[in-house]
Amino acid sequence: MNILSQDIKYLQGVGPQRALLLANELGIKTVGDLLAYYPYKYVDRSRIYKICDIDGAMPYVQLCGQIFSFDTAGEGRNKRLIAHFSDGTGSIDLVWFQGIKYAAKNYDCRKPYIVFGKPTVFNGHLQIAHPEIEKVDPAQPPSSLPLNGESSMFANEKTNEQGNYLSPVGETGKGSGVMRGSVFRPSYNTTEKMKRSGLNSAGMAKLTANMFNLLKEPLAETLPPYITAQHHLMAYDEAVRNIHYPTSPEALRHAQLRLKFEELFYVQLNILRYVKDRQLRYRGLVFNTIGEHFNGFFYHHLPFQLTEAQKRVIREIRADMKSGRQMNRLLQGDVGSGKTLVALMVALIAIDNGCQACIMAPTEILAEQHLDTLRAFLGDLPVRVELLTGAVKGKKRTAVLEGLVTGDIHILVGTHAVIEDNVLFHKLGLVVIDEQHRFGVAQRAKLWMKNNVPPHVLVMTATPIPRTLAMTLYGDLDVSVIDELPPGRKPIRTVHMFDAHRQRIYELMHRELELGRQIYIVYPLIQETESTEQREPSSWLEWPSREGERRSQKMDLKDLEAGFEEISKAFPTYKVSKVHGKMKSADKDAEMQRFANHETHILVSTTVIEVGVNVPNASVMIIENAERFGLSQLHQLRGRVGRGADQSYCVLVTKFELSNTTRKRIQVMVDTTDGFEIAEQDLKLRGPGDLEGTQQSGMAFDLKIANLAQDGQILNLARDAAQAVITSDPDERNQQNNILWRRLRELRKSNINWGAIS
Ligand code: ADP
Ligand code: MG
Repeated sequence: MNILSQDIKYLQGVGPQRALLLANELGIKTVGDLLAYYPYKYVDRSRIYKICDIDGAMPYVQLCGQIFSFDTAGEGRNKRLIAHFSDGTGSIDLVWFQGIKYAAKNYDCRKPYIVFGKPTVFNGHLQIAHPEIEKVDPAQPPSSLPLNGESSMFANEKTNEQGNYLSPVGETGKGSGVMRGSVFRPSYNTTEKMKRSGLNSAGMAKLTANMFNLLKEPLAETLPPYITAQHHLMAYDEAVRNIHYPTSPEALRHAQLRLKFEELFYVQLNILRYVKDRQLRYRGLVFNTIGEHFNGFFYHHLPFQLTEAQKRVIREIRADMKSGRQMNRLLQGDVGSGKTLVALMVALIAIDNGCQACIMAPTEILAEQHLDTLRAFLGDLPVRVELLTGAVKGKKRTAVLEGLVTGDIHILVGTHAVIEDNVLFHKLGLVVIDEQHRFGVAQRAKLWMKNNVPPHVLVMTATPIPRTLAMTLYGDLDVSVIDELPPGRKPIRTVHMFDAHRQRIYELMHRELELGRQIYIVYPLIQETESTEQREPSSWLEWPSREGERRSQKMDLKDLEAGFEEISKAFPTYKVSKVHGKMKSADKDAEMQRFANHETHILVSTTVIEVGVNVPNASVMIIENAERFGLSQLHQLRGRVGRGADQSYCVLVTKFELSNTTRKRIQVMVDTTDGFEIAEQDLKLRGPGDLEGTQQSGMAFDLKIANLAQDGQILNLARDAAQAVITSDPDERNQQNNILWRRLRELRKSNINWGAIS
């Protein structure tokens, strides 16, 4: 049996209980899983400091010396064990608050130890709390005693740190977590539960060390030799050994490159294989005709000139629709760039070719808004547009379902309700998915089944997506971009204000209200977590996930309620609406509708208004606690104003004390209204976060080592390499590629998200 598929339970140091923990906490069930659990950083154990040279501002340091006495201090929870430690150049206290008994029993006075930890100053004295301690093997003393120089730690993402690396500390015993030849100590992420069972970082290091003792034979290659040769990649076996226990900084860099490349390569191979299979399996409807519907609208009903970008995008879509292949296209266009109109005109082409079209929105409000917009655009043209949402019931629903089957309805606008199995079409030729963050590949595929030849699919998003992310999230889609706003828009003026500027904010509000304008005020939801740290949006797309749903049940609306009270008092002559996600959806809709109808003047809300709502008369967007929002979210929120011809304003209100990154984020918003610029900056400032989105799209697995914010170049190489494989070997005949297809199938099998699309 392959050693990598062996149950982790049997690895030395694991056993049934820890095996359960490893599986539940980290999903590690086999030796192979542990192998793929990479350290998140490495600590250089190659140099030893003199105590006289260290201070409390240093990062982790390594010391070599002896304990000369023990003390205890404090009572109850404050009780601690102190070991006075010296190397002859000075002394430092080693302190334990927990595991006191264990420490007292295991460490002896007058024996040489290597001590490792972060020095701090307490009551004017240097100390290290909870140090890592190793016995010094008298037969093999550390070769570099004591040395000057900076201790170096570097994180797995960083590949550019260099140091002056010295000879290794030497092997300090089997299973100690230090491997012969490696000067680095790997650090592994673990959880509180694991730590309680001794599986902290050092505990994990013992396990990986035991694992490598077991893996004597070189591990099989996972890429064909022609690819590793072409890209000068380290062998797989060498790479995984070095990613856990690097023999040198250079070896670590090569190992990282190899593993990142491989990871991104298989993500791309998966996507491109899927695209190819889709092309091989399905023909596309051919739309040759531009007929009376399209022309009637274009020549007689179009209320304005199309922008050049709109024209170009419509041409791109049209080319797809007559190519004989099924269109799968992503249309990116900033808020207000006129995507709805594009959707309508493309739908008219479908109608001209004897087909129906369906436009999907993520919420009922948006679906209703689309319905109104489309009907207003179409005027008296003989195009029947109907709505289908969860709220359409009874006779109305029956009538709509019937009209779809007979073909009397040309365009159906709706929510997710339209993908239900009982919704049948006469001939569905086009599906447009608007603001589709919630739509994965699997769901899109479900839509295809609505017609014997799958309909063309156009996915529209107002969230600009940096290229690296788009290649992964939407790697199966062709991309069109509307990079131009309709003329005559005044750019929104954005200002950053502190809480203390409340009076000036009120003045601005008064002025705009007197001009007859309306105002949004948005509050973040505060999460009731035990952690004192404020959570920043974890994924820049903030995908709704199971995790998110669970979290949202513990949301606090205190700030919003207080804000609502305050605003109602400060603006007694105006009507104030309040909307948040905890309201019943009917109440929420009614309140939004009141604001849209100008029955209320100020809308105090949470981010429920984020997507798509269109109230052109609203001219001020005030975002409270703006520091708690991600850039993309701020951009989306700001896009709610500036929809009319008048000057609009966005006020970002924050507390005074801000972290550097947050200050930069806010500044980006003040400086630019370009969504793509903002998205790139966002990715740079925050990284791709937890990539829930990637999983949801069904296209990628959890990236273990590659980082889409930093590894764009590697991604490009990987994409090209994967594309070359698909192009040169579409039928999987080339023997050299067998290894690839086998591995891809394995990955698809072991990954739910990949499985969904294969
Ligand atoms: P989004 O891309 O955010 O969905 P919309 O489709 O809602 O944008 O368009 C925003 C506004 O711009 C709408 O009121 C729409 O009628 C208008 N619009 C769209 N295209 C043009 C154009 N070419 N010229 C002028 N106004 C336009
Ligand atoms: Mg829109």
